[in-house]
Amino acid sequence: MLFSLAAQRFHEIEKIRGRLEMTDILADLFRMALPNEISDLVYLTKGQLLPPYKGIDLGLGERFAEEAISISTGHPKSNIQSYFKKSGDLGLTAEHFVSERKQQSLSSSELELSYVYDAMLKIATSSGTGSQQLKIRYLSDLLNSATPIEARYIVRFVLGQLRLGVGDPTILDALSVSKTGDKSLRNELENAYNLCSDLGFVAKTFKETPDKIKEFQIEIFKPIRPALAERLKTPEEIIKKLGRCFVEYKYDGFRLMCHKKGKEVEIYSRKLEKMTHMFPDVKKAILSLPHDEIIFEGEALAFNKKEDRFYSFQETMHRRRKHGIKEASLKYPLRVFIFDIQYLDGRNTSILSFKQRREIIEGIFPKGILHTSDGWIVEKPAKLRKIFDDAISKGLEGVMAKDLNSPYVAGKRKFAWVKLKKSYGAQMDTVDAVILGYYKGKGARAIFGFGGLLVGTYNNEKGRFETIAKIGTGFTEQEMEMLREMLDRIKLGHPPHDLDYEIKPDVWVKPLYIVEVAFDEITRSPSHTCGKKEGKGYALRFPRMIRIRDDKGIYDSTTTKEIKRMAGS
Ligand code: ATP
Repeated sequence: MLFSLAAQRFHEIEKIRGRLEMTDILADLFRMALPNEISDLVYLTKGQLLPPYKGIDLGLGERFAEEAISISTGHPKSNIQSYFKKSGDLGLTAEHFVSERKQQSLSSSELELSYVYDAMLKIATSSGTGSQQLKIRYLSDLLNSATPIEARYIVRFVLGQLRLGVGDPTILDALSVSKTGDKSLRNELENAYNLCSDLGFVAKTFKETPDKIKEFQIEIFKPIRPALAERLKTPEEIIKKLGRCFVEYKYDGFRLMCHKKGKEVEIYSRKLEKMTHMFPDVKKAILSLPHDEIIFEGEALAFNKKEDRFYSFQETMHRRRKHGIKEASLKYPLRVFIFDIQYLDGRNTSILSFKQRREIIEGIFPKGILHTSDGWIVEKPAKLRKIFDDAISKGLEGVMAKDLNSPYVAGKRKFAWVKLKKSYGAQMDTVDAVILGYYKGKGARAIFGFGGLLVGTYNNEKGRFETIAKIGTGFTEQEMEMLREMLDRIKLGHPPHDLDYEIKPDVWVKPLYIVEVAFDEITRSPSHTCGKKEGKGYALRFPRMIRIRDDKGIYDSTTTKEIKRMAGS
């Protein structure tokens, strides 16, 4: 497949808003890709080179990209910089200068998709002395053969700024449509994705041997997408929903998924990024387990031996950042509370009932760093309330109730797990919202250049973001400075393509960060688009920021559907 075809379709996608239309354009493109091209195409559409757990960082510096554009087009760097200053988009800048190229390269030929992908991979992975010059050369070579529209996407991609606004749900729909003309295979594809977290691999398997999707298997070192909990407001509601169930403490730490095969161990975060290097102490404990192959999950918390108490999530992460990893693991030892097991010595345990999985866990992780989570069988609301109160008095967040008969539900929010959390003011729970833009500060805040955030939810039925709140409180001075810096790095000259909005912030940003937000109640407002009906959307009253959730990706934000449920409609 020629890269020009993909670039043309990316251009069409950028111009439209409807998810159905987007799905059709992508389906068409996927249909045309060969089996050895489809994974490259899927990754490129997502603005990635490989799944996040492979840890490949895009993000070539803008200065280097300017240099490559200059070398390739023969225009001086100063012209390129001043055009970039005006347009705010180096992709558009590349497009402009490639169309006004001063010299034609002798080697120019039509770019193949796989060639572009391989070159981008080389740009992302070259390291060591001289690697910056090498990256500039790879990029200018690519631009030598690129048409103006190809140059736009190549440059945006290598900067880590490809913003097509195509989410995983749209890609899954498009894969199904590419084969059957409808979404009938969407669920099977999604289940496969949930077991391996690698959309490129799913697409390739689907293209080569569609039947394999049905019997997709868990593989060690391909992280499973995490099971998610529903929320209910009282012990009575939980018992009514689940009946006799298992109730565990809910630890406010860092979720880890641990994989081991022989002498190899990898540890993944909730966002499915490789975190092994951060947890040498946990790795050592996993290596000493008497099992050759295992996948399990737990919540890691730093433990204060002297005071016999756990540090909070913030403290746990802060300690890890502030001190060297080795030093931190000695000074603030971690404990991982194991709450699930998906694989054991050749056996897929994720399909077993929770009751069976818990028995396996109790047999493997009695004590030490790897610790079975505390939990009890519960039949009556009064006992559940007692466990909840104990958890709160121990400084924990609440409890998790689990359906004894349910298998592990990868990647989905189902009533297999129900969380009951301590309340924040009048409200039972918090919302995890996506940052969509920020306001410049007025008055005392002018010195920080930051006055608040515009945040939203993800509507997974429409595949679009929707605004829900303008947050003006909850920030420390340090956080305001940090947020401005962080957000300036991802600012956009226009609203994100996959956002529905009524109000505008001073600066739009690429949806990338999630914040946890407390609020007093959910109301309706014409200014917000979350679940908008009859001119009014859902809005958070008195929203305040609690913390940045850097363990969550944008599609892990609270969904519009959950907001509707929380609002009781
Ligand atoms: P979610 O994961 O549901 O999107 P979240 O990340 O904001 O939400 P919570 O709402 O606090 O987290 O609840 C789910 C999280 O609780 C899990 O992702 C896991 O990290 C953590 N957790 C703590 N203790 C347990 C436990 N015993 N069983 C399962 N999860 C637990």
